[in-house]
Amino acid sequence: FAPNLKIIKMSGIRTFTMLKPDAVEKGHVGAILEQIASAGFRIVAMKLTQMTQTDAETFYAVHKERPFFGELVEYMTRGPIVAAILEKENAVEDFRTLIGATNPEDAAEGTIRKLYAASIGENAVHGSDSDENAQIEGAFHFAGREMF
Ligand code: GDP
Ligand code: MG
Repeated sequence: FAPNLKIIKMSGIRTFTMLKPDAVEKGHVGAILEQIASAGFRIVAMKLTQMTQTDAETFYAVHKERPFFGELVEYMTRGPIVAAILEKENAVEDFRTLIGATNPEDAAEGTIRKLYAASIGENAVHGSDSDENAQIEGAFHFAGREMF
């Protein structure tokens, strides 16, 4: 049955991303999407949406004991984001390479965070850190019928 096939197919070849509120505010969506497409990622699902406080607290629950948690939730809820599921061989690892280190000061030249992130907090883009989290995060934002 189709919904199960989608879950199986996701392993290894899909990742989840958000172009965060700062990237949308600054008008960087087009340039970032072009860089993602040029790197060989296919868009499986995509939308402009805004996270509620509960959404952000749930999405980033792993960081709830961190000192920056409140700041992170405030940042991620302050405006619209572009959420997307992307497909490519070795998607999770290759996308983390494309976006660069969490802190733009440490990010390699030419990476999305080096080009567009302002700080370790406001760092323009999210990328899943494992196949399992890519599946969970994609399902958090999209229904099966929104994935193509
Ligand atoms: P990522 O996987 O590279 O996004 O980094 P983490 O999972 O460690 O952190 C999640 C998000 O929390 C980051 O992308 C930042 O937006 C934010 N963040 C991480 N570390 C800090 C920090 O030291 N200060 C602040 N203000 N935000 C942070
Ligand atoms: Mg992370």
